[in-house]
Amino acid sequence: MGELSVEKKLQELKTRLLEIDDLTSAASVLSWDQTTYMPPAGAPSRGRQMATLGRIAHEKRIDPEIGRLLDALEPWAETLPYDSDEASLIRVVRHDYEQFIKVPPRLLAELNEHAAGAYQLWTQARPANDFTAVQDSLAKTLDYSRQIANCFPGYDHIADPLIDFADRGMKAESVRALFAELRQQLVPIAKAIATQEPADDSCLKQNFPEEKQLAFGLMAAQKYGYDLNRGRQDKTHHPFMTSFSVDDVRITTRVKENDLSEALFSTLHETGHALYELGVSHDLDGSPLAGGTSAGVHESQSRLWENLVGRSRPFWNHYYAQLQATFPEQLKNVSQDTFYRAINKVQPSLIRTDADEVTYNLHVMIRFDLELALLEGTLTVQDLPEAWHARYEADLGVRAPSDVDGVLQDVHWYAGTVGGSFQGYTLGNVMSALFFEQALRAHPGIPAEIEQGEFGTLHGWLRENIYRHGRKFTANELIERVTGGPLTIEPYIRYLRTKYGELYQAVA
Ligand code: ZN
Repeated sequence: MGELSVEKKLQELKTRLLEIDDLTSAASVLSWDQTTYMPPAGAPSRGRQMATLGRIAHEKRIDPEIGRLLDALEPWAETLPYDSDEASLIRVVRHDYEQFIKVPPRLLAELNEHAAGAYQLWTQARPANDFTAVQDSLAKTLDYSRQIANCFPGYDHIADPLIDFADRGMKAESVRALFAELRQQLVPIAKAIATQEPADDSCLKQNFPEEKQLAFGLMAAQKYGYDLNRGRQDKTHHPFMTSFSVDDVRITTRVKENDLSEALFSTLHETGHALYELGVSHDLDGSPLAGGTSAGVHESQSRLWENLVGRSRPFWNHYYAQLQATFPEQLKNVSQDTFYRAINKVQPSLIRTDADEVTYNLHVMIRFDLELALLEGTLTVQDLPEAWHARYEADLGVRAPSDVDGVLQDVHWYAGTVGGSFQGYTLGNVMSALFFEQALRAHPGIPAEIEQGEFGTLHGWLRENIYRHGRKFTANELIERVTGGPLTIEPYIRYLRTKYGELYQAVA
């Protein structure tokens, strides 16, 4: 194939990809509006509008012409450096294309329809504490999940294809091994802390006016580097980040006037996600390479900015006085140390989303292991509630009084597939410390800078080493490039032992 023909075919591919990106971005704007400003009566037509855009985008993604263009361009792309924009584009689009075309549209439509019904059942079964009401539907979801996985024959574990959708390149066995290692370290730490007096977090549970909370959170986000010319914050029920282009990345938050930590840390969390998307190279904008590379790496950035920075002593050495000045009545008699202990309180609990840094991963690993067992067929849906309780007792020493705070707790299994959606949370925590340690190695002055309320060196390092690449590399490739080795739990365990060893006995 001649130069000219390569040029033309590449342009043709890029034009098609940009059109798909325009459609999905437009759908994202509709979805953002739906959860922020849309009046309730707009729901039915909004659902239809988003479905239409989604269908047209999907038709374009599975167009055989994309396959033909890839076939024609691959020999040329193989002559380019692996990390070049063009070679990466062809490689990633090939992977996405194969993933899209292998699942028959009929199966996808059936699953989506089933999931909508399953979600409805769950919204009723949960308040009624009635697992039997969702049991058959969940069994069907499990069956669909296996069917989706079986569209990708040749896997080592049936969960692998499902995991690959969110965390490309990760496999059930390697994640399971990593989590087993992590669990072995975490369970004794959590148990040692559970025997000690819990931190007093009553200082966070006073009345904090909404406007001041929002202003303080957004001030901190901007200090992190969140640019309001390229983003904005709005209120919603479930905080999220959404990206319409490299220059329009938005965050949402929710405020509880009787809990200071809710809006503040969810803002710092979503800001971390946003900094990642905003940091992608402009050269990749509008292409499938723009965006975070995996659920795990994305979560590593939200966790890094929320926890490793936002819940650290250096951060509050600088910002606590400012927080006190914002809420003088509430905090004037609360020492910085009391506040620090409150925002880092560890206590085994039943609810994943409310869990602290130490116990959070135990919640995730329980779900991950149960998912694998369900997919393997070594656990039946009928036995799931009891298996849940047994693991909570073994790992966290707590037992939910009912299934409401047990197996009915999370929406995930009742609104999509079983498998592939939980591992990213804990992979993210593990990676957050891995990347942070690497940044500190390159720039030992980072904590002192944070203590001055400045984050430029850390942000710059993350942009240079992680953000700008977008989806060019898989998580494992990125980790190898950044650390020179594979994913390991060591930095994360070091981080937890150092931080919580100072707050609790028998942890370090
Ligand atoms: Zn997140």
